[in-house]
Parts: sequence; C-alpha cells; structure tokens
Amino acid sequence: MTGEVLRAHRLTRRYGEGGGLVRAVDEVDLSVPAGQTLVIMGPSGCGKSTLLHLLGGLLRPTSGEVWLAGRRIDTLSERALARLRRNGVGFVFQSFHLMEELTAVENVELAGLLAGQAPRAARRRATHLLERVGLANRAGHLPSALSGGQRQRVAIARALCNEPLVVLADEPTGNLDSAATLEVLRLFEDLRTTGQTLVVVTHDHRIAAVTDRMITMRDGMFADDSRLANLATTPLYDGWR
Ligand code: ADP
Ligand code: MG
Repeated sequence: MTGEVLRAHRLTRRYGEGGGLVRAVDEVDLSVPAGQTLVIMGPSGCGKSTLLHLLGGLLRPTSGEVWLAGRRIDTLSERALARLRRNGVGFVFQSFHLMEELTAVENVELAGLLAGQAPRAARRRATHLLERVGLANRAGHLPSALSGGQRQRVAIARALCNEPLVVLADEPTGNLDSAATLEVLRLFEDLRTTGQTLVVVTHDHRIAAVTDRMITMRDGMFADDSRLANLATTPLYDGWR
C-alpha cells in the first residue's frame, strides 16, 4: 500500500488521577508513511509501550485519535478492535509470547487460523514464513528447544502471518544477547527492504542501522524526530550478514 499507514492526532493516555496522575502519552502527533521503519527510543517510563499499544489498538486513549490505513480505530467496538489486532497489526514483544506447547510452525499458523485462514493455507504460509526468517529446519521444534534469537524470529514470522499493515515491536531485542540481537536486526533490515511498515520501540542504539527515522520520547512527548536517510543505505555493522 502507499500513502500513510498510521496517524495519531493529539494522542493522550493518562493513568491514575490527582497527585498520582501520570501522562504516559501526552498529545502526540504522528504520521507514519507506508514502508517506513520508525524507531522510537527513550528512557524507561517515557511512554513507549503505552504509545505502541495505543497505535495497535491494544489500549484505548484517554483522548485523541488513532488512524490505521485511513480508518479511525480508537472509536471501534471491542469486536472490531479484536479483528483489527488479528488482521491489521502484527505485534512483537520482548518476551516473545509464544505458546510453549506448540511447535514453531504451529505458533505461526495459529495466527492465520485465528484470522480465518483455511488450515492448509495457514500451514503453507507458516512454513513459508519460517523459511523467510531462516528457520525452515526448526519448524517442528518447541520454543523450549530454540534459542532466544530463534524464538523471536518465530514471533516475527507469526506477526507477519496475516500480512499486517504495520508490525509493532516492543523492545524486541530486550531479552537477547548480542548475537541474537543481530539475527533480529538483520530480519528487520529484510523487512524494511520489502516495504513492510514497521514501528520498533527499543533501547538498542544498534537498531539505527536498520531504520529510516528515529523519534526520541521523553515524559510522554516527542523530544526529537529525525529522518536518517544516510543511515538507511549505510550498513553500520562489521560482519553484517
Ligand atoms: P516505557 O515503555 O517507555 O518504559 P510505559 O509506556 O510502560 O513506558 O509507561 C509510561 C508511564 O506510564 C510510566 O510512568 C508508567 O509507570 C506508567 N504506566 C504504564 N502502564 C501503567 C498502568 N497500567 N497503570 C498505571 N501507570 C502505568
Ligand atoms: Mg516499555
């Protein structure tokens, strides 16, 4: 798709009240064009996860608007939001959130089955996605038999299962050692070249190598928003690939 995939308008989420009031996200405006890889950084507690959850319809704003592919989503019914979370958005979490009793391929295809894909089509797609993330030979493994980097790659394959408009990743390398972090960053780089719209929240500065744009958040607001046109074409890693 072309044009704008995500838009936030004066997006605000508060927690608590009175003296305990926290402005987790405070009147944020954001526009993410199709195909952009956007990285959001900032100190712990600045509102990154809250923002990501608002953008993906996991959380409702206190005020303001969220638009996905031209459709306002913050006002949708619970039912429509659940459908959107299954079909329109792919989530990647720090702690993977895989089903421990399902194999890698079953974890990926489950997302397709829940979205209404026929079993055979879901399996075919899951198998293809595991190939794409370099795990064809681990399809039958349980998560417990996979390394952290492999688990996160399964989770990314799962996030891609329904061809989401946007992939939202919250500290996707937060639980990984540096070798596994590189595996995941390399995969994000692949996604970027295929035009997948991607929003990644992270502490990890190495992710600058695979991004088009970096926003720094502080106290629920954007402190800085830079386009990194140069970085996008400059591999920063020795031994990348
Ligand atoms: P980050 O992901 O950048 O660490 P969060 O979005 O998790 O930040 O949190 C932003 C602020 O909102 C923090 O001050 C946090 O303590 C607060 N917060 C987050 N979730 C809740 C909640 N469910 N209830 C109350 N306060 C919350
Ligand atoms: Mg967080």
